[in-house]
Order: sequence, then C-alpha cells, then structure tokens
Amino acid sequence: MAYAYDDQNIFAKILRGEIPNKTVKETDHTLAFEDIRPQAPVHVLVIPKGAYVTYDHFAAEASAEEIVDFHRVVADVCRSTGVTADEGAGCRFISNAGEHGVQEVPHFHLHILGGRRMGRMVQ
Ligand code: 5GP
Repeated sequence: MAYAYDDQNIFAKILRGEIPNKTVKETDHTLAFEDIRPQAPVHVLVIPKGAYVTYDHFAAEASAEEIVDFHRVVADVCRSTGVTADEGAGCRFISNAGEHGVQEVPHFHLHILGGRRMGRMVQ
C-alpha cells in the first residue's frame, strides 16, 4: 500500500480544524497556509483538501477540478505574496515525497519559498 493515507497526520488535523493555521488562501478544494518553521521570508504550504500522500498520487488520482484549483491557488499565492518571477524576484517550489524525498508530513504539500535568493538546488 504505497499510498496508504494516515488521517492522523498534522495537515489532516489542520484541515479538520483541530490545529490552527495562518491561512493565506482557501477554496473548496485547496488550502494555503504559512509554514510554522519558515525557511524564507515567504514560506507558504499549499495542500489539497483530498487525502493524497504525494504529488504523484495527487496527479494520478485527483479530479481535474481539484488539480486546476490547486494550481490556481499556487498562482494566487505567488501573486499575493509578490514572488512571481515576472513581476517579483521569483521563488522556489518544492514538494518532498517519501523516504528519499525526506517528506515529514504524509499529506501532499507544495512549498512556495521566496523573499530571498535561494542556494543552488539541495543535495
Ligand atoms: P516536508 O518535509 O514534509 O516537505 O515539510 C513539512 C513542513 O510542514 C515543514 O516545513 C514544517 O515546518 C511544516 N509543519 C510541520 N508541522 C506544522 C504545523 O503544525 N503547522 C504548520 N503551519 N506547518 C507545519
């Protein structure tokens, strides 16, 4: 069961309202909120509300509506935080997956990191 979903993970608790979060944007299918341990001046996590463990799981199993909504929220967050590459100074998108990706929280999330120049790609 590569994609067994643990509904006790911290982001599932955030989605159920059991743990507070600093919401940046919310839609019917997607939530964007500030990372609790920011690695950059802008560090927002974007998550689907559906139970997906990794990006490839989301891409394979989510509906077209969920997938489009997720990416529109990413675009909105980039604009609202001023990190688009065309109007701002750009940013980095990261999604860690599984053991080798060193994924801490097993609910698919995209990190949006910006507001400073990033180092070269991670090891
Ligand atoms: P991962 O390593 O799974 O890609 O990253 C998980 C991220 O979730 C980390 O950057 C960590 O700081 C963040 N995080 C962990 N627990 C919480 C929490 O309770 N609230 C928020 N807002 N972020 C969290």
